[in-house]
Amino acid sequence: MLPKESLLRAQEDLRRLVDIPSVSAREECLSECARAVRDLLAASGFETEICAGEIGPFVVGEIGDGPLTVIVYNHYDVQPEEPVSLWISPPFELSERDGRWYGRGVADDKGEFVSRLEGWRLFREQNPGPLPFRLIWLVDGEEEIGSPSLEVFLKTRFSGVNADICWWEYGEIDSSGRPIILCGFKGVMAVELRCRTARADLHSSLGAVFDNPLWRLAAATASLRDRTGRVLIDGFYDTIRQPTEQERDLAGEPPFSFDSLVQATGGQRVLNGTDKANFYAAMNFAPCMNVNGFSGGYMGEGAKTVLPAEGSVKIDFRLVPDQDPQRAVDLLRAHLDRHGFEDIELIAHDANVKPVRSATDHWFIQDAKVLLEKHFGQPAIVQPSSPASGTSHPFVEQLGATIVGIGLTHHGAMLHSPNENIIVKQFEAMITCSSAIFQKLAERANGIMPTETSPRDGVTP
Ligand SMILES: [Zn+2]
Repeated sequence: MLPKESLLRAQEDLRRLVDIPSVSAREECLSECARAVRDLLAASGFETEICAGEIGPFVVGEIGDGPLTVIVYNHYDVQPEEPVSLWISPPFELSERDGRWYGRGVADDKGEFVSRLEGWRLFREQNPGPLPFRLIWLVDGEEEIGSPSLEVFLKTRFSGVNADICWWEYGEIDSSGRPIILCGFKGVMAVELRCRTARADLHSSLGAVFDNPLWRLAAATASLRDRTGRVLIDGFYDTIRQPTEQERDLAGEPPFSFDSLVQATGGQRVLNGTDKANFYAAMNFAPCMNVNGFSGGYMGEGAKTVLPAEGSVKIDFRLVPDQDPQRAVDLLRAHLDRHGFEDIELIAHDANVKPVRSATDHWFIQDAKVLLEKHFGQPAIVQPSSPASGTSHPFVEQLGATIVGIGLTHHGAMLHSPNENIIVKQFEAMITCSSAIFQKLAERANGIMPTETSPRDGVTP
């Protein structure tokens, strides 16, 4: 049981952070929020430092030494609050309704940060001596704009550091209250294709003579994927790391049914070849391609016959280990050239987030599984990979860490949307669970339990 004063203390910290509108997209209040985070870490025993980022500074807290190095990663920046009119209570104010706390960042990621911090303080109250492992707490101020400085920052500030674990900024709780441990994230490649076929829009009668940029873009786009969702770019699948037997087993038993996914999303056109039995494996292990939007020509009221001069289409790919986003851009360019689309311009908007997948039998994941079950009262689900993405690869590639997502982000948390919220009971459970996780790490470091790190953690180059 969590002592009442502990919950109140955490609530006050969270309230203070939610009050600060640290919106990185607007470069608002980032230094102020960084200082507030620094003060919290300093008051909890950490050596702290605020380090410049491109837009928002990083906050670093360090303590302890020993055979294990653990990174806790969070971020204090948040998404813009718009549309404000849809918020039931003001976005930058912690409000309580029906056992939930509402406010921008209350889940993503200030609530995750504060729950761990309060867990840390409870652990230290019981274990005040020297910490037997090295703990680096890194709080990013640019996560919501893609962490543009993270890779370089880790290289300069933590060069030579070998980390065992990176406790990722969040983990999930499903709608029935079961905690989900995320062991990986997909990569991203987001591009724009542009086509121009004339100096200016032409009379549509000239469509008898000249090609049309929207036709060309539609044809180029259609050439990239078949009806089953399979990407048709040569070499696209070449470097994919096959899931291990254990990962396959974990993905073979979906923690939720296909019908519930259809119900929750309203999704209707299931890809050919995807069914109740394999949809969850696809979410975990399959790369995919999405058309995000087409633009060009006339889309106003009524008819306007015109041959547009130009158009564009935006496309994203979710990648899996060990696909490389930069390489995927090159393969896409080669595909366009080979199929007669040399004139189509390719702009890579995002090719920096690489996929990662940790070994699901890692001791930390096994420890977390036991502790989550104890504190949430339900067996934890180990998910080999989130279908979503995050800039986690620098921790794996540069520091050698195993990425593990454990946290309190429930499936109705409305991340990035109006009425973002957390469930107070789950926040409490995450505090006591975090405390137990720090305790377990100390035991591991003290050699009470052996640490056997699987040789195939993380990304193989
Ligand atoms: Zn986040």
